[in-house]
Formats: sequence, structure tokens, C-alpha cells
Amino acid sequence: METRDVIIIGSGPAGWTAATYAARAELKPILFEGPEPGGQLMTTTEVENFPGFPKGILGPELMANMREQAKRFGTEIISENVTAVDFSGSPLKVMVGDRVYEAKTVIISTGATARRLGLESEKALYGKGVSACATCDGFFFKGKNVAIVGGGDSAMEEANFLTRFAAKVYLIHRRDSFRASKVMQERTFANPKIEVVWNTAVDEILGVDVGHVTGIRLKDTVTGETREMPIDGVFAAIGHEPNTSLFKGVLELDEKNYIKTVPGSTRTNVPGVFAAGDVQDAKYRQAITAAGTGCMASLEAEKFLAEN
Ligand code: NAP
Repeated sequence: METRDVIIIGSGPAGWTAATYAARAELKPILFEGPEPGGQLMTTTEVENFPGFPKGILGPELMANMREQAKRFGTEIISENVTAVDFSGSPLKVMVGDRVYEAKTVIISTGATARRLGLESEKALYGKGVSACATCDGFFFKGKNVAIVGGGDSAMEEANFLTRFAAKVYLIHRRDSFRASKVMQERTFANPKIEVVWNTAVDEILGVDVGHVTGIRLKDTVTGETREMPIDGVFAAIGHEPNTSLFKGVLELDEKNYIKTVPGSTRTNVPGVFAAGDVQDAKYRQAITAAGTGCMASLEAEKFLAEN
């Protein structure tokens, strides 16, 4: 098999932007779409802060546009999951089962995945009242009471979204202040259907015995006191973990398992391997910053190819 100039792993804003730039530079990139094509924006609703869309755009629509744009310039899209990589020599190797793809440069844009509460009852009741995606499942809670856990922008966004369907939304947060942006907090406080429950953690999800969520046991994070609250649905919006299991022992990761890049660039510790988007960014994690670093990765890959 021919050695390609660029292989891109992952299909969020970082991956598609890298692909568009690489394809327009006539590098004929291959892009592996991965297990969740389109990434996190596929499970969101209105994106209001992506420049160029003054009226907002739906997340899945934005991703479909990016895909189409990358394809238009000749990106070869493979709808499979990369199962292993070998970056120990040149060319770099990317494996899908027994198939080996070779490239001079690789851009990693595998993103991050929503964190779970980590309770046994959460696992047992997943899809039976427990969800990690308000956008996907909110519709099933028409007229019901739901709880959402978290204190960031995602929790605010999803709490507000859930009020379209639910009778009442309890926003449960472990501290006494939110880390969400001011505008999202204000929107949340102004919504009469949302009640904030401060200094509280979900200790257990109730209903395993009957096969669907009937309530939650809450624990006061200051006093340690517990109480039960009847509820029909539980949503978690408590952040993300980077998708880096393929790269453990292969690339340098930081203490939170994000890929380490040289500051001001997308270079990893392996020459020719670049990382863009949420997989290397624990700080900003925005669609626009992901797209920006995707662009950087492509330009850096181009420069690497010219110099080597
Ligand atoms: P985040 O900002 O990391 O917030 C996660 C929240 O979950 C925090 O409030 C955290 O509590 C809480 N948490 C974490 N682990 C927990 C656990 N095990 N149990 C209970 N609570 C837990 O994540 P995010 O809200 O998903 O946002 C990620 C990034 O995307 C941010 O940069 C955000 O600005 C951005 N974003 C932007 C928008 C928008 O602009 N419209 C929408 C969504 C996301 P502590 O506060 O105590 O740490």
C-alpha cells in the first residue's frame, strides 16, 4: 500500500478542519471517522457561538457541513475505527484490524467523551431514566421531573434545554458556585422551571429493583447528610475524558491523559505526529478552538512534509 502524506484520526471540528486544509494543499488525506462520527457536536442542539452563523446552527448540521467541505476537496473518508497505531518508525502506521495504513504524518483529533457519575445504579439504569445526553433523550421526559448533575456550561445548557419538556428540572451541583459562563448562569437562574440544589452529590440512583429510575439519594457535601428525592430521569453533564487509550505508551500524555503538545503548536513528542482539538486541550474545549488547532496541525504537517 502506498504511503500517504497525511492520515487524520477523528471527525470533529479539529479533524474536518485539518482535512479541508490538507486536501486543499493536495495532500490527499485519509480521515478515519471513528466510533462517534462528528464528535460531541452531534449531541448538542443550537451552536450560538461559532463565528459565521449569526442566527446559530444545529450541531449536527454544522458537522455535516464541515464533512461536506472536507470531502469537496478530495478527503478520503473511511468510516471505521482505528484499532492500533505504531509510531515507532517511519512511515507511521495506523491499523484497522489486520489492515495497515502508512503515512508520513498523522493528525490525531479523537476528541473527548462525556464522563459518567460512576455508580453501579447508573450503569444498571442507563437508558431507563439515566442519560448522558439531554439533547438525545430530553423528549422522553415530557411533563416529568428530572435531575441534572454538574456546574459547567454543559449542565446549564442541558438544564435549560430540558425545561422544554420536563415539568421541573433540579440542577444538582457539588459546590456552592458554578464554573459556567455568566451568560449561561443568568439564563439558568432566570428559568422558573429550574431549581438549583447546591452542595449536593448524587449518592445513588434509585429504581434498580423495578427497572427504571424512581428517585435519587442525595448527599449534602458539607454536612454529609443524605435524603431521597423522587425523580423520573437523571442526566449527567460533568465534563469529559480525552479519547487517548490508543496512544498510551505511544505518545506523551499529561496527568489527565490529554496528549501533550509543544506550547504554541500541535506537535507531539513523536516527529510527524500532531494532535488537535479536545484530545490535547483540557482548557478551552470549544468547537472553534478545535477547528483552529485542526488548521494549525494541517499547516504544521505540510511544513514537516516539505522539510523531510
Ligand atoms: P466542565 O466545565 O468541566 O464542568 C464540569 C462540571 O461537572 C463542573 O461543575 C464539575 O464540578 C462537575 N463535576 C465533575 N465531575 C463530577 C462528579 N464526579 N460529580 C459531580 N459533579 C462533577 O465541563 P462542561 O460543562 O462539559 O464544559 C466543558 C467545556 O465546554 C467548557 O470549556 C465549557 O465552557 C464548554 N461549553 C460551552 C458551551 C457554550 O458556550 N454554549 C456549552 C457547553 C460546553 P466543579 O465545578 O466542582 O469542578
